[in-house]
Amino acid sequence: MSSSQRRSLTKSKGGAGACPTCGSTNVVRVQAAVVLRVGRRRIRCPLVKHEVCADWGEKIFGIEASQKLDAVVLGKRKHAAV
Ligand SMILES: [Zn+2]
Repeated sequence: MSSSQRRSLTKSKGGAGACPTCGSTNVVRVQAAVVLRVGRRRIRCPLVKHEVCADWGEKIFGIEASQKLDAVVLGKRKHAAV
């Protein structure tokens, strides 16, 4: 079971991995606000550490970012009196 696509993982720099969508290693770490769309509403999460694919501009969320976003979304839902 040796994969031929293994080489994309060996060239990571500064802890940033490869883009899961296009496989580019041109990924930069940023800390910026992220706007999530949840149903019909948009939730803004300030200063979320994540990675951005420099080739396509895709946002890549790791475990840490996902947990933070989850917490924000769940928190907003609890307080939202719809
Ligand atoms: Zn990409």
